[in-house]
Amino acid sequence: MPEEGSVCIASEGNEALISDKSLSARVQWQSCRAKTRCARGARLVTGADIIRISRTLALEPWHFTQTAPAVAGDPTGIVLDKGRRRVFLKLANATHGCVFSVRTPSGASCCGLGDIAPTSCRIFPADTKDGAPAIRPEPGCDCREWKLEDLDQEALTEALRTWSADRDHWFEVVARWNALAAESDSELGIEDFQRYLLEAQCAREAGAAWPEEVTA
Ligand code: SF4
Repeated sequence: MPEEGSVCIASEGNEALISDKSLSARVQWQSCRAKTRCARGARLVTGADIIRISRTLALEPWHFTQTAPAVAGDPTGIVLDKGRRRVFLKLANATHGCVFSVRTPSGASCCGLGDIAPTSCRIFPADTKDGAPAIRPEPGCDCREWKLEDLDQEALTEALRTWSADRDHWFEVVARWNALAAESDSELGIEDFQRYLLEAQCAREAGAAWPEEVTA
């Protein structure tokens, strides 16, 4: 059980999905997430997450993301280098886990991104799968068994709706990029993909066409 004095104040707002707003519940929530999600790194990120972090921190996406090999059929698999590589994007990992996981002087680990953390991180411990809301089993922490009733149902429904819309748009961004990459004679790398992502997001916000549909 984590000490109450080790609560991470920097991440106030992160616990918005917990219906129990007591300090002890927040400490447990932060501790459980740090020991599971943050220790392994943020795998489930979308283009919307990457752009939000990039804009807020004024960092290019390639400064805080990294790639890993994608399995066949993964809809987040990004085609690079004339089809020789297929990778997925995740937040960069350091030796201690997610690069945004910070250790406070009190010894608590918390998310340095606060409310701009990936949606999949913010809805912890809920599952991101479609269907009825559920708690995802998380190996690596047994200090509390989270239940659905521990979460604010209204906030959870809204967060899952955001997650679902962002994920579907992410799938489409990747699919459109892969179609472009298949036709290209250039050696397109991950930075090229992320520039495409930024353009596609600007077009989405302006209600404009996809970048490849814009004719001069
Ligand atoms: S973004 Fe924040 S919550 Fe998500 S894994 Fe990294 S440190 Fe943890």
